[in-house]
Amino acid sequence: MSDIIIAIDGHSATGKSSTAKKVAKHLGYIYLDSGAMYRATTLYFLNNKIILASIDQIQKALNKIDIEFRKDKNGLPLTFLNGKNVEDKIRTMEISSKVSGVSAIKAVRVAMVEQQRKLGEHKGIVMDGRDIGSVVFPNAELKIFMTASANVRAERRQKELAEKGQTVPFKEILKNVVDRDEQDSTRKESPLIKVDDAIEIDNSNMSFEEQVNQIIELAESKITADV
Ligand code: C5P
Repeated sequence: MSDIIIAIDGHSATGKSSTAKKVAKHLGYIYLDSGAMYRATTLYFLNNKIILASIDQIQKALNKIDIEFRKDKNGLPLTFLNGKNVEDKIRTMEISSKVSGVSAIKAVRVAMVEQQRKLGEHKGIVMDGRDIGSVVFPNAELKIFMTASANVRAERRQKELAEKGQTVPFKEILKNVVDRDEQDSTRKESPLIKVDDAIEIDNSNMSFEEQVNQIIELAESKITADV
């Protein structure tokens, strides 16, 4: 049985990461949250007051950024930025509102894509993001494009944030997901698109288990077909 690459792209807050994590666990694959890398970079830029219009400052900053993923005691991935656990810090509304501006910068994308490709060179990986099937792994054996209505996504995100102790008004979250979709889809560098060979899953009316099972089935048929 040969391992494959599974690319899960799609709109903001469609549950890509939680789904990808589950699928990876089921298949015994590595899971990589590419959005966490853009979020960690955004945090570094904020903390170090990097001016986004200065390519020189950006390049220097990128050389100083080291992002790694370690596992917590339950085997779930935690994002580390220069040796520090920043998992909670990168999930705040402040980072969510700034990350699309940072991820639109070409030098940032070049640096992230290079690391992502290295992590996937041996296949057996599930990676979620916006450009995984289109740019990072255009030859991925299975490409999923996830979407859902903006209202449903904002409701789910609000619940998720509340579980982490962050109370954020629904309107603010809705605006953030809609704005990010718009920015991510219209940027010049690697915009979010549904590539022709991606399978679209609209999970507005699907349970989490249903979407996980659907992707596992699709993956298993590809893995078997690959033998
Ligand atoms: O997946 P998540 O919502 O955490 O991603 C945060 C942001 O990172 C996205 O809104 C997008 O701007 C950027 N991103 C990207 N390319 C990826 C993954 C994320 O541009 N592959």
